[in-house]
Amino acid sequence: MPVKGTGEYDDTNIFARILRGEIPCRKVHEDQWSLAFHDINPQAPTHVLVIPKARYISWADFSARAGEAEIAGFVRAVGQVARDLGLEEPGYRLLANIGEHAGQEVPHLHVHLFAGRGLGPMLAR
Ligand code: 5GP
Repeated sequence: MPVKGTGEYDDTNIFARILRGEIPCRKVHEDQWSLAFHDINPQAPTHVLVIPKARYISWADFSARAGEAEIAGFVRAVGQVARDLGLEEPGYRLLANIGEHAGQEVPHLHVHLFAGRGLGPMLAR
């Protein structure tokens, strides 16, 4: 059942197709709950996307419907990717675009991980 404001999950979205193996990706990490892969149009020297494997559109949707193990698995996957890529120093940025005002293009929840240079101000001014 969709959470208010998130609509129906669209099984034709590009990340659903990547999860089904219909479209290739440059995989960084995979476990029971999560998949991480390089963004096709990187906006930093390192630009990785981490997604839950199940059908969630937004943070609201995920936090309302996902089970405890699934939430823990996804959060741990984000941390593990950052550690595995050696990004703790000098640091990295996590970002999730949710909905129209944030410019979310792909309606499957994803966390962007940016690194590899100074990333500038948090938001464009
Ligand atoms: P959003 O704007 O929804 O937060 O970010 C969607 C991201 O998905 C963009 O950074 C875009 O470059 C990336 N993307 C879109 N299509 C593909 C694809 O087919 N493969 C990969 N690896 N990334 C994609």
